[in-house]
Amino acid sequence: MKNFKTPLLVLAIALLQNCSPSKNLGNSDGETQTVSALENSTFKKSFASIKAEEMKTNLFVIASDEMQGRDTGSPGQKKAGEYVVNFYKNLGINHPPTMDSYYQKVPADFMNKKSRGETLPDSENILAFIEGTEKPNEIIVISAHYDHVGTKNGVVYNGADDDGSGTVAVMQMAKAFQEAKKSGKGAKRSVLFLHVTGEEHGLFGSSWYSENPIFPLENTVADLNIDMIGRDDQENRGKQYVYVIGSEMLSSELKKINEATNDSTVKLELNYKYDDPKDPERLYYRSDHYNFAKHNIPVAFFFDGIHEDYHKPTDDPDKIDYNLLQKRAQLIFSTAWELANRNERIVVDGKNTR
Ligand SMILES: [Zn+2]
Repeated sequence: MKNFKTPLLVLAIALLQNCSPSKNLGNSDGETQTVSALENSTFKKSFASIKAEEMKTNLFVIASDEMQGRDTGSPGQKKAGEYVVNFYKNLGINHPPTMDSYYQKVPADFMNKKSRGETLPDSENILAFIEGTEKPNEIIVISAHYDHVGTKNGVVYNGADDDGSGTVAVMQMAKAFQEAKKSGKGAKRSVLFLHVTGEEHGLFGSSWYSENPIFPLENTVADLNIDMIGRDDQENRGKQYVYVIGSEMLSSELKKINEATNDSTVKLELNYKYDDPKDPERLYYRSDHYNFAKHNIPVAFFFDGIHEDYHKPTDDPDKIDYNLLQKRAQLIFSTAWELANRNERIVVDGKNTR
């Protein structure tokens, strides 16, 4: 999760927003949304393959001191990236067919033009891909950033929750989709597992991807973005919940689908506190989904809140609630599964608030 320090831009956007009609962001209207794709046994098996223990194993590597806080372009980040790539290779999950590796280079020049004075080296997004069986040209993106803030004065900022939790959740979901594919009953639409870089410095990896997409943006159905889903915040201590942001902004169907899949699976409390572009914390603009939303692609952003270890060296893997991480990953997987398997792609009928 990116820090919030762009006061001028914020002011300008806030002023613009105050001039536009407000959009109702309350609970959805109770219309039932069918989630028929969740009935079959392939789904159930894949769903059950999302396991707390496996995510824990991966997170203790990705958020270990060896990765040196995964600062953008650093050797530690590259090492974490190699671990992610090897995970995909071992499962037989390939990169997109038009790429010659899992890496999409994000050039230093691109980042440094936009950065706030830092000089960053080249870095890479990591892309893994599972082709759809019936509508391979329609893409569901599941994204999370794998960079963090590095080290300060010799202290490693491990970023276990931010965003090691999203990173291992994306990996685990890919495994679940691959299990279905291997059984001969893969998802109808294609799924792109997108690990972006440069998030902490300014959402650079997702910005680069959205300007240099591997699959046409018009064929990109939705982005489900995950940034911090392994902890709880003060307000929700001990609760089984997740914050969901942006899910009805661009498509009237996405929020309903997410609620319906939640009802028929993990039954978390879906908290919409931050689901408003005008919220003072401005979370709608603060993670990688925004770079899809600004291109009119429906998004849902899953988040656990600003907790006491946010951007501190104490954001460690032993503080993650792995059972809660599993439930949140299963919810996002279920929504992705439904989006990838329903007959019609979701409508884009909302408006961009940019
Ligand atoms: Zn962060």
